[in-house]
Amino acid sequence: MSDPKSVELLARAERVIPGGVNSPVRAFKSVGGKPVFISRAEGPYLFGADGAKYTDYVGSWGPMILGHAHPAVVEAIISAAKNGTSYGAPTELEVIFAEKVISLYPSIEMMRAVSSGTEACMAAIRAARGFTGRESIVKFEGCYHGHADFLLVKAGSGALTFGVPDSAGVPVATAKGTLTLPYNDIPALKELFAARGSEIAAVIVEPVVGNMGVVPPEKGFLEAIVALCKEHGAVSIFDEVMTGSRVARGGMQERAGIRPDLTCLGKIIGGGMPLAAYGGKREIMEKIAPLGPVYQAGTLSGNPVAVSAALAMLERLDAGVYEKLEHLGARLEAGLTAQAKKNGVDVCVQRVGSMITMFFTPGPVKNFGDAVKSDTKRFGRWHGAMLSRGQYWPPSQYEAAFISASHDDAIIDATIAAAGEALQAAIKE
Ligand SMILES: *Cc1c(COP(=O)(O)O)cnc(C)c1O
Repeated sequence: MSDPKSVELLARAERVIPGGVNSPVRAFKSVGGKPVFISRAEGPYLFGADGAKYTDYVGSWGPMILGHAHPAVVEAIISAAKNGTSYGAPTELEVIFAEKVISLYPSIEMMRAVSSGTEACMAAIRAARGFTGRESIVKFEGCYHGHADFLLVKAGSGALTFGVPDSAGVPVATAKGTLTLPYNDIPALKELFAARGSEIAAVIVEPVVGNMGVVPPEKGFLEAIVALCKEHGAVSIFDEVMTGSRVARGGMQERAGIRPDLTCLGKIIGGGMPLAAYGGKREIMEKIAPLGPVYQAGTLSGNPVAVSAALAMLERLDAGVYEKLEHLGARLEAGLTAQAKKNGVDVCVQRVGSMITMFFTPGPVKNFGDAVKSDTKRFGRWHGAMLSRGQYWPPSQYEAAFISASHDDAIIDATIAAAGEALQAAIKE
């Protein structure tokens, strides 16, 4: 239940903004609740409109890996803003940013900065189509790659939660160019390439899915994507907007030791500002304008304030941060699993590093079909009970929760205890 001030703000917001929110999942529709309006945030905590404190497991949907309002990041933003907030001309900062990203992701030889993950995925697909001269793309059910028309086909999270996997307003002809397959299904992918390999421009994948809840790739799945693309002259695209610098400093490709042709980045790589990137093999990136015929542009691309925030954040992502996140993630996973067992609730906790989902189904969840077996009503009740205990968990069964480096053992343990009580509340009705 949200506070009276938030209820009042929501009523005002609903008159001027569709659903009162600027991104659908923020509306809490799928958990049957009302959103808390946030007034400020610090470290692992969010503060509601009425000042109530919540332990945050959303982290702005991923970027806040160091916790909110990290002093170094805030300082970088302030000092950059004093030099002007946008020039629409090249800067040294952008070069340093590109060099930094390339140093973290060995598969990236050249990159472009853009302003959102949606833009990064859209541009990467255009680059792949321009490079190959082919039109079809392959994506996996439940993976979300932003809201570009041709990617809003069987997409996860918001689309999944609202039961409109194919959005109104997307032309049928546009969606036709997108072929979808079940996640983790290597035989289906092989079959598709055998039948239509010469038409496929790209395969785009979340190397760990976050957008139907956390679903890790099975052994050999990512390798099969890269190998089949190579064999058939298609471009492999890892959409690491969520996993990039989250599951490891160099993303899932570092963890798995794989080099895709192109990579999409956003969220963490943007330091909590509207900044994202796509990049990869030089021969593909050289097709981008003004070097090549593939057009892509942006008034605020590589914005100096955003890039400064990103650099301050990326600089602080050392091995110690990922060790801590792994430790906290394992602690939360074990605690949630134990609480479910104690309370006799069938759940399946899936985690990679500091990305975690508790599916209200026995699992395991290996693909979209498994994920939608979850008892979302029960999840909704659990979510509400968590919120009333000061625990801000993603307001959808099909989202990843995120831990930040500003969380600690005591905070995690308090969350585990609250989760146990919330489970009792969730199974009562
Ligand atoms: C969040 C996300 C996007 C979209 O990024 P926006 O910045 O919200 O446009 C794309 N792909 C994945 C995997 C994401 O998690």
